[in-house]
Amino acid sequence: MALIECPSCTKRISDKSTSCPFCDFKLAGLSPQDQDREWQRIQQEKKDKLLSQSMLALIIAIGAFAYMYLAQPYPESWQAQVAYGLIIVSVIWFVANRIRLLLIKKKRR
Ligand SMILES: [Zn+2]
Repeated sequence: MALIECPSCTKRISDKSTSCPFCDFKLAGLSPQDQDREWQRIQQEKKDKLLSQSMLALIIAIGAFAYMYLAQPYPESWQAQVAYGLIIVSVIWFVANRIRLLLIKKKRR
């Protein structure tokens, strides 16, 4: 019995199993090439999702920043506090997404 990497969740599973016990990914009938292709597709999907999330984070940061610049609310007002909070949260979110993007494996194994 050999161990292979699940194309979907990348956990180690038996090559005899017909579906992944962790994520229910169907393995039966997939050739190694198909599994590779499926793995690539799933990694690409993860990448696309992270990219659109970091774009969203960037837009929120820019929006909050533009609001601060244009509306110039008093620093003590709740509007300013919310805008500051949004900038901080979205910048952290953006950086976290970029790091997760870097951590996505490019090659299987
Ligand atoms: Zn799996």
